[in-house]
Amino acid sequence: MNTPIDLVLQRVPGAKKAGAGWRAPCPSCGADSKSAKLAMSESADGRVLLHCFAGCAAGAVLNAIGLTLGDLFDRPATAQDGPTERRHRRVDLELADVRAAAAVLDLEACVLQVAAEHLIDGNPIIGEDRERLALAATRIDSTLARLRAGQMRRPKAAA
Ligand SMILES: [Zn+2]
Repeated sequence: MNTPIDLVLQRVPGAKKAGAGWRAPCPSCGADSKSAKLAMSESADGRVLLHCFAGCAAGAVLNAIGLTLGDLFDRPATAQDGPTERRHRRVDLELADVRAAAAVLDLEACVLQVAAEHLIDGNPIIGEDRERLALAATRIDSTLARLRAGQMRRPKAAA
């Protein structure tokens, strides 16, 4: 069965392995561009993290390749799943709000990772990239504030 990252990579032309993830021209804003503005990576639990460094929303990128946000997250239950997977799936549903926050943090961490690699390679962060970094900082701030304020449902014990 295709994992979400397989599904995405099949549909994004020109994807190349880069560090822990992949880079490609963004199908939404710059499919013809030589620069690989779209960063893709896979989280430990198999979700796909997408970030267009030119600023496209994940939804716009997905739209361009005929997928939806659900394709990044949902792994349909299979007969091979054991009780642990089923329990994780149930807990996942209970943790929907926390997962949404985690998705924001994952995405913004991806932005920071891309920016860090950019800086480590000796490139400056300027213009739109700089604005996107500032946006990442704002989103991380507000998401952490929401989590800390307990506005999200408290997760039930995951046992
Ligand atoms: Zn884009």
